Amino acid sequence: MSINRTLRLGIGAIAVALVATACGGGSEAATTADHVRDGKLTIGIKFDQPGLGFREADGSYQGYDVEIAKYVASKLGVRPDGITFKEAPTAQREKMIMDGEVDFVVATYSITDERKQKVDFAGPYFVAGQALLVKNETTDITGVESLNGNKKLCSVKGSTPAQYVKDHHAKDVQLVELDNYSQCIEALRRGSVDVVTTDDIILAGFAGQASGELKLVGNTFTTEKYGIGLKKGDQETRTKLNDAIEQMIADGSWQKAFEQTIGPLRDSTLTPPAVERY
Ligand code: GLU
Repeated sequence: MSINRTLRLGIGAIAVALVATACGGGSEAATTADHVRDGKLTIGIKFDQPGLGFREADGSYQGYDVEIAKYVASKLGVRPDGITFKEAPTAQREKMIMDGEVDFVVATYSITDERKQKVDFAGPYFVAGQALLVKNETTDITGVESLNGNKKLCSVKGSTPAQYVKDHHAKDVQLVELDNYSQCIEALRRGSVDVVTTDDIILAGFAGQASGELKLVGNTFTTEKYGIGLKKGDQETRTKLNDAIEQMIADGSWQKAFEQTIGPLRDSTLTPPAVERY
């Protein structure tokens, strides 16, 4: 090999190494405050939950969580066109936040002590409750007390409703855990499961889409406080998100966002929650 070629290869290798260091170092160290300064935010939402977080066929995003995300982003100083929405499936939310794949998550995300070990939460911005969804013709499942007889019940991996079933009804039902709620709805329609469980508001969104084919049964039996999940220890962003949620409630946008998205599909009254600062 000529000296010239050896030299060129050497310089090439150094250049590659430098670029790799710059990129790796740069993106790992960048905080949400840095992203905001650049006018950009990456926000995790659901892509398959009608009325809450939904990606339309044309690539646009709809739903209550999407509206919450856009409002808080605007209060941080980021315009809608600076937002990149990323799908944040139930079981991957903590990891996506910890790995810095997203700045925060607005995805029917219940605030729990277990999750608080890994991430922080602003909010709550909404309070839901676990419920049951069955086919319209089903008569033997009327509420949580009728979960018996080894019925097949579908929920999602890593979700609080799946955990609730494991803790309280492990012997009564066969729990089928899938990756997202649209897969559970599909299984219910096909008849491969008897009932789907998760938060009432999520089930209402799917029922609304199913034009009378599916129905919610019984009362809610847990309390699910929806928070905005963000990197643990980012007190500055959390305070700003909490302020934004309070402003959204105070100026009427919170109520309006609800009424224009999931609201018509849900029949109970709407009470704004108090933000919990910790
Ligand atoms: N709110 C529940 C949870 O955070 C269920 C909804 C969901 O899986 O997104 O686990």
